[in-house]
Amino acid sequence: MRDTELFQMALGLIPPWQVESCEFDPERKRIDIMINFRHGSTFVCPECGKEELKAFDTELKSWRHLNFFQHEAYLTGRVPRVKCSQCGIRVVDVPWSRSGSGFTLLFEAMIMTLAKAMPVKTIGSFVNEHDTRLWRIIHHYVDKGRSEADYSQVKKVGFDETSSKRGHNYVSLFVDLKGPRVLFATEGKDSSTVERFKQDLIEHSGCAENIEQMCCDMSPAFIKGVREQFPDAKLTFDKFHIMKIINEAVDEVRRQEQKDRPELGKSRYIWLKNRDNLKQAQINTLEKLTVRKLNLKTSRAYHIRLNFQELFRQPPETAETFLKKWYFWATHSRLEPMKEAAYTIKRHWDGVLQWFKSQINNGILEGINSLIQAAKAKARGYRTTKNLIAMIYLIGGKFNFGLPT
Ligand SMILES: [Zn+2]
Repeated sequence: MRDTELFQMALGLIPPWQVESCEFDPERKRIDIMINFRHGSTFVCPECGKEELKAFDTELKSWRHLNFFQHEAYLTGRVPRVKCSQCGIRVVDVPWSRSGSGFTLLFEAMIMTLAKAMPVKTIGSFVNEHDTRLWRIIHHYVDKGRSEADYSQVKKVGFDETSSKRGHNYVSLFVDLKGPRVLFATEGKDSSTVERFKQDLIEHSGCAENIEQMCCDMSPAFIKGVREQFPDAKLTFDKFHIMKIINEAVDEVRRQEQKDRPELGKSRYIWLKNRDNLKQAQINTLEKLTVRKLNLKTSRAYHIRLNFQELFRQPPETAETFLKKWYFWATHSRLEPMKEAAYTIKRHWDGVLQWFKSQINNGILEGINSLIQAAKAKARGYRTTKNLIAMIYLIGGKFNFGLPT
């Protein structure tokens, strides 16, 4: 078998395309595979699909292909232009590459697979390409995958913000809770993010009226966004975020009290974590600090917190009665931070209780968020939020990129 035939088979080339010659340069660690088409072959117009068009002239092009062992491999060939009676002069499509790309499809498929697992900069040094060229590939396939995505069946949406670039900027994420998959990511954490999500939903065959349930934190901007853009959706406040408000109140009580009660020193996490997650020494401390005769404010706040947690174990028919009792307790506790937390719950009453009907929370989003944090690490040196968002879609979007495997 001649080496040209070997490469022809390895590349999966079919007529009229054939490998004409191969040049191997061990000094430069490079293989160049020259491709040509048989004289007299006809081609298809890339615009209208008209067949049997003869080559009008050719353009010399080159594509980076998968490495051949440690050698960089390039395909080089004359690509015909056809003169279509309808569309004019057009460069024909070649089966190994998409138009306008300097890489073969297999090379691009490899980049997309690697980008899910490692930083783009690292891939760049690994394949000896500048990472901006690799980002261009990623953006192309993410845009393509997203343009074909169908959101017509989406009914339950959770959303939250996540920090990009050391907390100075934010990206808001909208997730199909059933998927689960990232539907939309956009810069910012104000109410306009919800508006942009609605627009994006419409562009993907969805509509606002389809969305039955939404879940978010108690941020006024998000609440405003939902009221204005999704007036039919029932809003559930995410229970993890609700618990965070209660926890912060407990922590504030401890912080204030600790000034006069040194025994509270280093007890911070004991009050915030669940008992099951404490070490034995922490449990011992907790038991010492919660004895009644010490009469610690922090201990009282802690019990208010424990009671609130019980809310989510109530049957739906008694949940509101339970919450009312809790509210009375917390607002009569003479602990300012606990009272404030209770007022916050009161202002968001319906959305807190909506959980008993919707049973949704953003736990999935927390999971996706950890993928995002990983994406941030992978996108190290991603430079722009646009790159980070592309990485979020790549990892969380479950899009079909239509690449060879
Ligand atoms: Zn045409």
